[in-house]
Amino acid sequence: MKRSKADTPSLYKTIRNRLCLFLMLITSLSACGGETETETVADKPVAVEAESETAGAAEWDYENTNWEEISGVECRANVQSPVNINTQEAIEAELADIRYEYEPFPMKIVDNGHTVQVYGTETSFITVEGKRYQFKQFHYHYPSEHTIDGEQYPLEMHLVHQEEGTSNLVVLAVFIEEGTTVNPFLEKVFTQIPAQKEEEVQTEVQLTLSDYIPPTQTHYTYIGSLTTPPCTVGVDWIVFREPLQASEEQIAKFSALYANNARPVQPLNNRRVLKTEE
Ligand SMILES: [Zn+2]
Repeated sequence: MKRSKADTPSLYKTIRNRLCLFLMLITSLSACGGETETETVADKPVAVEAESETAGAAEWDYENTNWEEISGVECRANVQSPVNINTQEAIEAELADIRYEYEPFPMKIVDNGHTVQVYGTETSFITVEGKRYQFKQFHYHYPSEHTIDGEQYPLEMHLVHQEEGTSNLVVLAVFIEEGTTVNPFLEKVFTQIPAQKEEEVQTEVQLTLSDYIPPTQTHYTYIGSLTTPPCTVGVDWIVFREPLQASEEQIAKFSALYANNARPVQPLNNRRVLKTEE
């Protein structure tokens, strides 16, 4: 169902506003840009580091994903990520283009015990719906966390971006499927994985994030959470439809390190998933 150009932004806002209201009702947090004592940058850079580990929360793992039992986390809130995306139920909307300002930067990498993660250096930004977000880090999940019509991909990459001066997050999710050739950009990362867990290694390898984004910008978007404790809500997810490819060996290299670091899909509940126009 195609909507007129006049309708879609207001539809998007309406859905978003309702979700915000909903979020504010069920959590005591404003996840939608309002100011509360817990959402300041000063005391909550934790939201960004969260996917890395230092959640301040108790130890957690993927053996038992009942993370809502951990104290001080938002994993119980019913607006969680990841989700299954039903492509027929997703609502087509005129979504603004994502604007990329991605400059090369030297890779700093860690195997943090939950994933392999690369840090940003304040040189890469995206603009989404008029707001500018700084790239903070990317990391991988095996198998994919989001599913498309119930289908799971071998790998999913998350590129975490944070709005300057706030704790608002946009995460770009990129699926990786098995192909026949080595993905040279993935190889740059996977050949530098430190042997020692939790050891941050500064390399001279230059990365440009646009190499990790699918050429086709068709995507789904919804409001969810971090997929690791503290499961902070109010995260804008942008899930690209087109997967990138990696070789069987590359996927095996990651799965040898992490045989399962994917949170199971969470109920969509009242949320709507929007999709770019065909
Ligand atoms: Zn992630």
